[in-house]
Amino acid sequence: MSSERLQVVQADITTLAVDAIVNAANRSLLGGGGVDGAIHRAAGPDLLGECRGLGGCPPGQAKLTGGHRLPARFVIHAVGPVWNGGQQGEDETLASCYRASLQLAEAHSCGSVAFPAISTGIYGFPADRAAAIAVATCRAWLAAYDLPQTITLVAFDARSLMVLRSALEKEA
Ligand code: ADP
Repeated sequence: MSSERLQVVQADITTLAVDAIVNAANRSLLGGGGVDGAIHRAAGPDLLGECRGLGGCPPGQAKLTGGHRLPARFVIHAVGPVWNGGQQGEDETLASCYRASLQLAEAHSCGSVAFPAISTGIYGFPADRAAAIAVATCRAWLAAYDLPQTITLVAFDARSLMVLRSALEKEA
């Protein structure tokens, strides 16, 4: 059931023609490095204009904008936790990011959503632990809701692909 609805691919998330891509944003929502920078470059300056009106976003939550020049219809800007040793609620904040994003996707009737590996770059969250949380949270969502129909977990590099694939197999 939910196993076909959850997939892992290696890609540049800005190229994916899904209903919504998720951005690993920071709490200002005004752009940054990593996937955030790539999304803003690909979407064009109107995305930043729209983000300016959002008033930022706390960790564990998410806000939705249009996709502008992206192939995706929407961007869901989720703010992940900064890794601080693992005792500061990082796991729960990361899971909450995925849930908040999926809730917005569902509310906007998105059939397909793609996530980057939130918090595993500049924010320093261990990739294997983040992958297990991503897979478990998405699976729980898919078991409970019809939308989105498919969730894609996007690896940017080969190592991240291996980590996500192994999490998908372990949690199955
Ligand atoms: P964070 O600040 O939440 O850690 P980063 O953007 O630094 O966010 O990294 C999150 C993940 O996104 C990392 O695994 C990084 O390799 C990946 N990433 C960077 N650019 C892209 C992209 N264009 N498409 C998909 N994933 C990307």
